[in-house]
Amino acid sequence: METKNYPVYCKTDIVVCGGGTAGAFAAISAAEQGKKVLLIEQFGSIGGSATNALVLPIMSTHIEGNPQCSYISKKVRNRIFSYGGSDESGRWFDPIILKIVLEELCLEAGVKLLYHTFISEVIREGSKMKGVLISNKAGLQIVEGNIFIDCTGDGDVSVLAGAGYTKGNPDTGKNQPISLRYIVSGIDKAALGEFFKSEIKRTGINIAINPDPANIYAAVTATGEWTLADLFKKAIANGDLAEEDRYYFQAFSIVGREDALAFNNPEFFDCVDGTDPEHLTKTQIEGRQRIFKQLKFFKKYMKGFEKAYISEIAPMVGIRESRNIEAEYILSANDIISRRKFDDAICQSNYPVDIHGKSLDFTNYSKPVDDGKPYYEIPYRSLVVRGIDNLLVAGRCLGAEFLAQSSLRVQHSVRASGEAAGIAAAYSLEKGIPPRSVDGKDVRMEMQKLGASFAE
Ligand SMILES: Cc1cc2nc3c(=O)[nH]c(=O)nc-3n(C[C@H](O)[C@H](O)[C@H](O)COP(=O)(O)OP(=O)(O)OC[C@H]3O[C@@H](n4cnc5c(N)ncnc54)[C@H](O)[C@@H]3O)c2cc1C
Repeated sequence: METKNYPVYCKTDIVVCGGGTAGAFAAISAAEQGKKVLLIEQFGSIGGSATNALVLPIMSTHIEGNPQCSYISKKVRNRIFSYGGSDESGRWFDPIILKIVLEELCLEAGVKLLYHTFISEVIREGSKMKGVLISNKAGLQIVEGNIFIDCTGDGDVSVLAGAGYTKGNPDTGKNQPISLRYIVSGIDKAALGEFFKSEIKRTGINIAINPDPANIYAAVTATGEWTLADLFKKAIANGDLAEEDRYYFQAFSIVGREDALAFNNPEFFDCVDGTDPEHLTKTQIEGRQRIFKQLKFFKKYMKGFEKAYISEIAPMVGIRESRNIEAEYILSANDIISRRKFDDAICQSNYPVDIHGKSLDFTNYSKPVDDGKPYYEIPYRSLVVRGIDNLLVAGRCLGAEFLAQSSLRVQHSVRASGEAAGIAAAYSLEKGIPPRSVDGKDVRMEMQKLGASFAE
């Protein structure tokens, strides 16, 4: 594109594009390697889905000892726990406190943050990226850098740079369902707990429900027997809820907020393209309407919600999956199901395949390898964007097939991928070689040297 008239905002070593979980971890690790790092984010805070889409908790790795493959995760856990913003494990957290902690760690590492700024174009010179075009209140400007890390979740920068990608379920062409999450406060948890107990007794079903006021939990999905399913069916029959409301409903407690519950819904099964502005607009509008309806449902059909109110609706729509970028290695469904290991692994996980609204038949896939190590690994090469010399990708849009992405999209893997990309970008600059020539083994060794734990 013609860019000569746009002013250059700055030139820096490493440009991290998008400040979600992967972006924050990439920026911190690159800056802690002594590099000049700019992090560009469209919203006014970092954390992305984990904070602005209110996504919690951090899923377990499902590996014995729950190794996080990230030294920054330890720092985040220690800081957020010391602020009273998480449980001891750090997995259950308050999204506002996480925002503060990630921001503090970025600033302490020397990362320059640029909020309220959207990346809308890429400036390429041959096989390299020269810069990104940013748009904000100051107008259109260029940010130049030596290495770029695409942490936009949707792979915006890689696609603008011309990289290939896949998107959606290859069987249906559709993306994973998306959700607009929210928080309700002012709940009398003791009364709600007693109500849950009475529902367990009335229905004779004690599934996916915890009446303990300190740790309230409840879930309903389209399939299976659930304690609260009967209540949902009644409300649907009375016109108080939509049929879709019972396809996916999940409520859980938030550390440090005694009268609040966080909701992993409403979920959308048709309007699901996170790269389509109309879908994003529609889900925000309809989501808010459905959330308001759900509050009325709680008040009418349950106990403990008499003084309850909606205290937060996520400003960011929760996108589970959109584009996945063509990387030097594309992690396949068979890789994760067979628990494949890689020499250049930067993350390990045994989190299951997690595609909402779909039960899977694995008969046509490889069988899990019985090597005494029940987990799969993500290779560094899945972060190296194919065809562009100075671009890495991290987070939920890294190089993976749809089914593999449904497992690695959870926060611990996204954190590890960002951390690895930041270190790799710094190594690339240090050694004067492109990211594709960086040895992933060196990246993992550096992560481990700094305190990241991996399963043996
Ligand atoms: C509804 C839902 C429930 C989930 N449940 C769980 C769970 O219980 N546990 C778990 O561990 N994981 C869960 N996940 C998965 C996990 O939270 C996400 O996959 C992960 O947080 C994604 O992190 P990311 O950094 O890759 O992307 P994102 O968090 O999407 O971050 C991308 C960032 O880039 C910014 N950005 C995007 N485009 C641009 C642009 N062009 N210019 C500037 N900025 C841009 C965005 O504003 C955002 O801050 C869930 C996800 C969803 C959506």
